[in-house]
Amino acid sequence: MQDTPPGQNAQPNGHNHTLGDGAQCPGSHDNSHLAANVPVVIVGAGPSGLLQAYLLSKLNIQCMIIERYSTRLAAPKAHAINPRSLEICRQFGLDTKAIRSLGTPRSEAFWVNFITSLSGETVGRLPYERMDADVLDATPEMIHNIPQPAFEEFVAQHLPKSVQILRNASFVSSEERDDFVYTTYEDRKNGNIHTVASKYLIACDGAKSKVRRFLGIECDGEDSCTYNLLVTSMACSLMLTDETMMTIHFNTDLRPVVGERVGMLHWVMDPAVSGFVIAYDLGGNQVLICNIDVVIHPGMVCSLSANESIAQEASS
Ligand SMILES: Cc1cc2nc3c(=O)[nH]c(=O)nc-3n(C[C@H](O)[C@H](O)[C@H](O)COP(=O)(O)OP(=O)(O)OC[C@H]3O[C@@H](n4cnc5c(N)ncnc54)[C@H](O)[C@@H]3O)c2cc1C
Repeated sequence: MQDTPPGQNAQPNGHNHTLGDGAQCPGSHDNSHLAANVPVVIVGAGPSGLLQAYLLSKLNIQCMIIERYSTRLAAPKAHAINPRSLEICRQFGLDTKAIRSLGTPRSEAFWVNFITSLSGETVGRLPYERMDADVLDATPEMIHNIPQPAFEEFVAQHLPKSVQILRNASFVSSEERDDFVYTTYEDRKNGNIHTVASKYLIACDGAKSKVRRFLGIECDGEDSCTYNLLVTSMACSLMLTDETMMTIHFNTDLRPVVGERVGMLHWVMDPAVSGFVIAYDLGGNQVLICNIDVVIHPGMVCSLSANESIAQEASS
């Protein structure tokens, strides 16, 4: 089995190199050039792609990441890392105490509250997963709550400089030939098409993975679209998501509203909301996720839902 693609020499340090405009990748787009040669190409710089790159770097395997966006998205998305993932982080030298110092304190993440509204009645409460001391009999790393961008930033900071993250670069296609994968991507700044040759291509491009679809790999599960809403201090702006789930990201201090009733999740048992608040940080960073029929409730539903969940609109 060859180690380098035809027409290209292996670099002793395994670093990427450009062949220049004259080096054409056979069989690919006319304007694509073999831009680099690296053992592993990862598509996507979310938590999976970044952690994958980190793990490979610990195994002394060179890789590069192709990421569609120029900057990290601010929406917090995932809030919990499970014990097994933290065990892997720890086994590969990531300081899990440092990770814990970044996320939601355990005292504030312990409960799931079932409520009529954030300022209303308590219907009940349950522990969020397992954050009691007994869980340490089964794992050295209990679940931890941390906003996804904070975890991504942490892992990114621990990547060696040899891991190149190509931003504003979108996966287009891949082709397997002569023991190599030729991955074609678009430079979104100028629309130019480039090709990189590698031994392996790893798809970490999320739930709607273009790599997966390109390769015709099926995916079981709900195919939902979502309204992503950005709400700052309850001034609400709307971006669309799906026909069933709406995500409203807002930034406001909910501590005076919830009082002693802190918790990671707040299920609002009011049909007008039909959803829950993820309190990444009760002092500021939160998300409300609720069911929505976009045909029945176009337009103003986001501010309606946000206000109903807090139930303070009428009094303010
Ligand atoms: C409100 C909310 C709460 C959640 N809570 C949790 C939770 O508590 N725990 C949990 O595990 N999960 C949770 N999730 C789901 C979580 O967001 C996903 O599990 C996580 O994002 C998956 O990480 P990933 O790296 O696989 O994919 P993603 O985070 O989606 O990253 C994919 C990356 O690939 C890039 N990309 C996409 N297409 C291309 C392309 N064509 N070319 C190049 N790059 C591309 C994207 O820009 C992105 O950076 C939650 C999600 C939401 C919305």
